[in-house]
Formats: sequence, structure tokens, C-alpha cells
Amino acid sequence: MNHPREEKTFLMIKPDGVRKGLIGEIIKRFEQRGLKIVALEMFHPDKKQIDEHYPKDKKWISRIGDKTLATYQKYNIDPKKVLGTNNNHEIGKIVRKWLFEYLTSAPSVKIIVQGIHAVDVVRKITGPTMPYLADMGTIRGDFSIDSPALANSEKRAIMNLVHASETQEEALHEIKFWFDDRSPFGYKRFGVDE
Ligand code: GDP
Ligand code: MG
Repeated sequence: MNHPREEKTFLMIKPDGVRKGLIGEIIKRFEQRGLKIVALEMFHPDKKQIDEHYPKDKKWISRIGDKTLATYQKYNIDPKKVLGTNNNHEIGKIVRKWLFEYLTSAPSVKIIVQGIHAVDVVRKITGPTMPYLADMGTIRGDFSIDSPALANSEKRAIMNLVHASETQEEALHEIKFWFDDRSPFGYKRFGVDE
């Protein structure tokens, strides 16, 4: 029987996770929590795929721009001097380009994770976007100290080891996009499903 909050979510071990030799360590953390890996593949995406993976709507792009602007403000950096603009949407588009470079720089691992409240639990195990703020015990908090101040000054995306869907809508879009109509695998985990 499926639990009412049995969900699927999309997880990706990003190039820095792969290059740091953390594939096993990362997957282990989801499995030990009682979540189930139901699809898994190594792949090397191109820019076009990353462009379709991240939302293109103005709201999402401006939100990323706002985050970057907040860091510049905190550290008293003039965005116009560094990036040539102080418009949140324009800056969001620049960060999106940095994401293309980051995520096409080496192979990644794409995974579908299934379980109770999978979207929220996977995000919790992953930790917040900015590794320097992430608690120990989370993947980002245990294996990275990257910060937006450093990443922005080096004109690159924050390297935070994994991507995980933030909402059920994102999960649906990302699973469909990366796995197309290939069905996830079904099996019963000892001690979890029976
Ligand atoms: P996530 O869902 O936790 O991965 O974070 P978001 O969806 O907000 O952002 C997508 C990705 O963009 C993040 O994982 C980072 O790699 C990158 N990113 C987000 N905010 C910033 C920022 O302020 N500066 C830089 N350089 N990169 C950022
Ligand atoms: Mg996100």
C-alpha cells in the first residue's frame, strides 16, 4: 500500500560532488534515512539541457538576481562595477549563465528518490543553498564551505554538491525532463516497505 505522502523527487549529484568522490557518500545519506533510489544514471548534460532544467520565468530569474544583489549589498560591492548592471533580472540571467558552465563542466549523476515526504526530506538532508550557512550533518554543511561572496567574486555559480527539487511541481517537471517517459523501478525495501 502506498502511504498518502509517498512522493518522488529529483536529485542530482553535481560535478563538484562527482569530482570530490562523494557519489557513494551522498547516496548513502538518503538510503539510510529510509528513502528509496528508484532510478539512477551518470550523464554529461549540455548547455541546452541545463537551460531547460532551470525555470525560465521572470520570477525565478529575478529571485536568483535578488540573492546575488543581497550578497553584494552585504559586502558593500557595487554590482554595476562587477557585473555591469544592478537590475535583479539582468543579474539573474548572468547567474543562470554561470550555472551552465558549472553543470556542464564534468559528469553528474541523476537520481529519482522515492519516499515519505521525499521532496522536503531530500531538501533537509541536502541543506540550504549556501554551504557556508548549512548545518553540519547536511550534505552541503559537511562537504562544502562555498559562499556567494566567493562565488560571485569569481563569477561562477555556488558549488553546493547537489541539486534537489524544491517543490512537488519542480519535482514533476525535473523527473519528466531528465527521465522522459522511462519508468522508475519498483521494489520493496526491507524494513521500510514491509
Ligand atoms: P538550490 O535549489 O538550493 O540549488 O538553489 P536555487 O534554486 O536558489 O539556485 C540554483 C543554483 O544557483 C544554486 O544551487 C547555486 O549553484 C546557484 N546560486 C544561487 N544563488 C546564487 C548566488 O547568489 N550567487 C551565485 N554565484 N550562485 C547562486
Ligand atoms: Mg532550486
